[in-house]
Order: sequence, then structure tokens, then C-alpha cells
Amino acid sequence: MQIAPRCVAYFHYTLTNDAGEVLDSSEGREPLAYLHGAGNIIPGLERAMEGHEAGDAFSVDVEPEDGYGPRVPALVQQVPRNQFPEMDLEPGMRFSTESNRGPMTVVITEVAEDLVTVDGNHPLAGERLHFAIEVAEVREATTEEVLHGHVHGADGHDH
Ligand code: ZN
Repeated sequence: MQIAPRCVAYFHYTLTNDAGEVLDSSEGREPLAYLHGAGNIIPGLERAMEGHEAGDAFSVDVEPEDGYGPRVPALVQQVPRNQFPEMDLEPGMRFSTESNRGPMTVVITEVAEDLVTVDGNHPLAGERLHFAIEVAEVREATTEEVLHGHVHGADGHDH
């Protein structure tokens, strides 16, 4: 069966950046499951999955606009260090914070004596993404899955 809206697809992937570095991979894990047509995965990848079936292997390049969006310089900010609770601050630490666009996750990119630089961009924002995909299984979604907009079961969401 071919991947189409109201299908659940299971796939293995290896994600690399322009430099060829592996950013993420499902190797050694269960394949990733998603509900096709529900925006569960980035648009560029979802479009490329359409029409494929179990056993298909293919590569797809995804531009930032079809991935995690462009990097927004305004999301990089310097915050006085005393705004953070008393703790050892290190680059790479993540915090949830309130912004005027709602809750967001920021990562610390630099720690100076009085100022901490935080970046609210998605880690993969602005990156051109290269996926190597192997479709493991395609099945019809259940009515409940379609209504909820996500996959249920062992690899998916549980209630
Ligand atoms: Zn659900």
C-alpha cells in the first residue's frame, strides 16, 4: 500500500547536514511512525514520503523553508546573568521560557561574566537537511488516529 493521507507509515532514517555529519538516525531503534497528512513530520519530508511503499529506499534534500524554518537572528538574545536561578550555567543547557509568542525553549550558547547568550531558534533552523529514508511498513490509520492527528500504539502516543 502506498503512503497517502490517513495512512500510518513506519520508516528508518538517517539525517545529515550539508557537511555530511550525521545529526540523527533511527539505526538500532524501532522505525519512526507517523500519521501521513497530519503535519507530524516536517513538510519537505512528508511530501517526499507520499506514494512510497514498504521496502522503498530513497534520499531527499529538504530546504530550511520546508524543514525547521530559517534562523531568526532576533531569537538570539543576551540576558543578564542574574535573571537565571543560582546555578552553574553552561553552553548547551536548555530552558523553557515565556516569550510574547508563547512558551519556547532556548539553549544557552555563551556564558560571560554578566551576560548569558540564549538562542530560541530550533537547533536545525536554517539547515538544509538530507534524509536517507527506508520505508518499513505502511498501514491504514484507525479512525481514532485520524481524529487525534497522531499514531497510537507501541511506537506512538498512548492515552
Ligand atoms: Zn491520541
